[in-house]
Amino acid sequence: MVTYSYRCRQCGDFDVRAPMGSAAPRRACPRCGGSAGRRFTAPRVRRGDAAMWRALESTERSAEQPEVVSGLPPASGAARVSRDPRHARLPRP
Ligand SMILES: [Zn+2]
Repeated sequence: MVTYSYRCRQCGDFDVRAPMGSAAPRRACPRCGGSAGRRFTAPRVRRGDAAMWRALESTERSAEQPEVVSGLPPASGAARVSRDPRHARLPRP
């Protein structure tokens, strides 16, 4: 997904996230419905860990479209048990 910027003459700038290469030259303004032209801006190049960016995008996406779950995630194998003897001395709930 890529963020494209548009400018409405009455309302100002707004951003639209869409697949790369799918930006229309004009788009309806989300506030007034008027025609807004695309603004060409510097590309937002990302650097860093891909897993971090996936997590950030997931967080950003869930702000607008929360993922709804209907149950617990499947159990992943046996319960993890520590073999460190110091953990046995820790207080238990
Ligand atoms: Zn507008």
